[in-house]
Amino acid sequence: MPRPSEHVQSITEAMSIKFNGLMYEKKQRGDDVITLSLGESFFDIPLFRFDDLPMPALYHYSHSRGLIELRTLLAEYYGTRFGVPIDPASEIFITCGSKLALHMVFMAIVDSGDEVLIQEPAWVSYTEQVRLCHGTPVTIPYHATVADYESYITPRTRAIVVNNPNNPTGRIFTADEWRELHRLAEEHDLYIVSDEAYSDYVLEAGDFIPAAAGDPEKAHTIVVNTLSKNYGMSGWRIGYVFANRETLGQILKVNQHLITCPATVLEWYMVRHFHEVLAITAPQIRAVVQRRQEIARMLDGLGIPYLPGDGTFYLFVNIGASGLDSVEFCTRLLNERGVSAVPGIGYGQSCDEFIRVGVGSESMERVCKGIEEIAALVREGAASSAPALAGAASGV
Ligand code: PMP
Repeated sequence: MPRPSEHVQSITEAMSIKFNGLMYEKKQRGDDVITLSLGESFFDIPLFRFDDLPMPALYHYSHSRGLIELRTLLAEYYGTRFGVPIDPASEIFITCGSKLALHMVFMAIVDSGDEVLIQEPAWVSYTEQVRLCHGTPVTIPYHATVADYESYITPRTRAIVVNNPNNPTGRIFTADEWRELHRLAEEHDLYIVSDEAYSDYVLEAGDFIPAAAGDPEKAHTIVVNTLSKNYGMSGWRIGYVFANRETLGQILKVNQHLITCPATVLEWYMVRHFHEVLAITAPQIRAVVQRRQEIARMLDGLGIPYLPGDGTFYLFVNIGASGLDSVEFCTRLLNERGVSAVPGIGYGQSCDEFIRVGVGSESMERVCKGIEEIAALVREGAASSAPALAGAASGV
């Protein structure tokens, strides 16, 4: 039998997808699972008409940059909401989800052996995507600050990935942090690749500072975003990327060779219903961020720590007191207590004492029940590991 490339064999599975797979299997066997592992928030969005979309255009390829009408809406949205000017004709294109957008960005900026800085906890695909492009991901442990990033820069560094707000912590980068990031980019001639997939999951609009606010010419800033999270439409696979005209032109070549364009019919649907979808989802986004705050208070009450952050619908919960590593913890949580979460190790080597909990896909009552189960497993683990540790310490 022929063998797949050694390079791809060396790429690891996405931890979130793996644990969601286990969750789906368990559900298929008829078990009830409180699902805190999903990477999306569920919204109520009606199905608008398809039968009035332009025919026969919707059956055919659109422009490789995506429909100009949708690019214009997205550019206007960034312009009015975040004060970032984007030229819809030359600085943005639409593609199949931001995951692909990111991969195409790395293909366009990374040469073999180039280094890309990624702070942990890092969304599961950054490191593997850089590796797929024959680059070297350089991970920075979760407790480092932006002021530490410079010490990781070498002559091979090409880019810094910033996930703002961060999946899985909800961290939002501050104005001071952005000043430092743009300084590093300018002084060391680096790209900032900013993943803003959760840009709307902040309660105070001003709290979110888009990467391009500090670099309106987009001299070194490349931004990816998506309809998946902000509009609860992950199944449509519509993402987009913006950058300066020249850089975007290079990324666009990759798009042309890989997908030609995103699904035309879905682009037209979004063109027709963009503002309606926004109006419907905005209050639902607010509600889920508020719910996240309530769950944070619940964790405070239970004495369970989590990494700081205010955005998204995730919490990165510290389960260190259980004495279990994150895979053991999530496996037992699922099998013994019927709750799914994602092991922190999937977000980096420094994160094995954390699990990712998402609060967007279950009722508040069930999320609370899930959190109680997590707290109970932490206590159970702590109780059973304490004597063993004491024994080890006394040499028994
Ligand atoms: N970036 C982050 C931080 C994400 O969490 C996700 C999805 N989980 C993506 C990018 C990719 O989203 P999509 O491909 O659906 O646009």
